[in-house]
Amino acid sequence: MELTFGTDVEEFRAEFVAFLDENLPTDAWDEPGSTADLPDWARRWQRTLFDNGWLQPGNPPEFGGRNANILQQYVYQVELARRRMFHSFNPQGVGIIAASLITFGTLEQQQKWAIPILRGELTAALGMSEPSAGSDLASLRTRAVRSADSRGDFVVNGQKVWTSGAHHADVILTFVRTDPDAPKHKGISVLLIPTDSPGVMRRPFAMASDREDLDFNEVFFTDVRVPSENLVGPLNGGWTVANGSLGHERNMLWLSYADRLDDLLTDFTPDTELERDKYATLVMDAYALRAMGSTVLAQAARGDEDVALLSVLKLMGSEAGQAATEVALNAQGPEGLVDRAITSPYNALNFHGHMGSWFDRYVRTFAGTIAGGTSEIQRNIIAQRVLGLPR
Ligand SMILES: Cc1cc2nc3c(=O)[nH]c(=O)nc-3n(C[C@H](O)[C@H](O)[C@H](O)COP(=O)(O)OP(=O)(O)OC[C@H]3O[C@@H](n4cnc5c(N)ncnc54)[C@H](O)[C@@H]3O)c2cc1C
Repeated sequence: MELTFGTDVEEFRAEFVAFLDENLPTDAWDEPGSTADLPDWARRWQRTLFDNGWLQPGNPPEFGGRNANILQQYVYQVELARRRMFHSFNPQGVGIIAASLITFGTLEQQQKWAIPILRGELTAALGMSEPSAGSDLASLRTRAVRSADSRGDFVVNGQKVWTSGAHHADVILTFVRTDPDAPKHKGISVLLIPTDSPGVMRRPFAMASDREDLDFNEVFFTDVRVPSENLVGPLNGGWTVANGSLGHERNMLWLSYADRLDDLLTDFTPDTELERDKYATLVMDAYALRAMGSTVLAQAARGDEDVALLSVLKLMGSEAGQAATEVALNAQGPEGLVDRAITSPYNALNFHGHMGSWFDRYVRTFAGTIAGGTSEIQRNIIAQRVLGLPR
């Protein structure tokens, strides 16, 4: 068993650390208004990363990377998290939408959309979920019909919900039904819909925890004309794109939960014997998560990726973080409800992580147990694909 990284990984880390020492933003900044809102400093930061091949190190250089292997991508994440920093403040744009276009898009779509999103010149939102299609995404009902004229534009009608950052995004990667007669997984296509298209209405709504935090949106499409060249992947081949898109998100997701858990262990100091006892359990959770994550990572580095085990990590990581935050919240008593408490050392760009109350921090952990596949859905996957239980 090898418990250290090879020299190629350590050299890679040293180069990135030197880059961060030189380039990490240190000036005052405005808080982004949503996950698709890039204030000037955030655009500059993302652009600097792109230009130096540090935005998505696993990508080839033309897409802001340096063809880094999976272990190098891991230490990259670790070094960013250690500084409580994000590579982009439009995470779904960079991590899901641009990544999907690199895999499934045409050369024109990559030039027109993916590269500007990666360079922080445009931002993007993800239009998958609908009021009756969340966990069961294949039930989505937003329709796209080909127009009869020679241009063959799509005409889109329907509604999305939970579309993070849509009100600030330039484009929405939208999953639509193009063949209502086909089995439900086989009649879905994916369209790039610019948000300034006539007929697109975005209605942001607040988080349960913070009335001023507008990230979620309802998005309504009424007879929206979308040029046929905005079709991503094959017509009616959207299910493959969906799986690929979320796959981009899933691979390193567990690591962000491990990082948040580590942050919490730093930010929360237990006082009583009972709190210390609970704290010890949280430390064990954090070690277990890293150990299991490292196993999956080592497997992936050998080219043996186990997608079902990623569900174990996602479930464990998101729920351990939630349990840990609950312990910290309870330890604060009524003080835990005080909004705009400083709950962690002031640290660059971790706005909600240090400015919200402990209650706010706790409520935000539910994002982790819902988004990217709820805990119940992860348990179904684990039951069937890891434990081999019947459906
Ligand atoms: C912070 C955050 C950001 C998000 N951002 C986006 C975004 O940008 N774009 C986007 O498209 N969506 C986004 N979502 C939506 C997210 O993908 C959905 O909330 C998620 O897929 C769950 O769908 P739902 O909310 O419709 O719940 P439902 O699917 O209706 O589930 C309701 C409850 O039933 C349970 N359940 C459902 N099916 C089963 C089953 N088969 N077995 C057992 N239990 C089941 C669920 O676990 C859940 O507890 C976001 C969500 C969050 C929390």
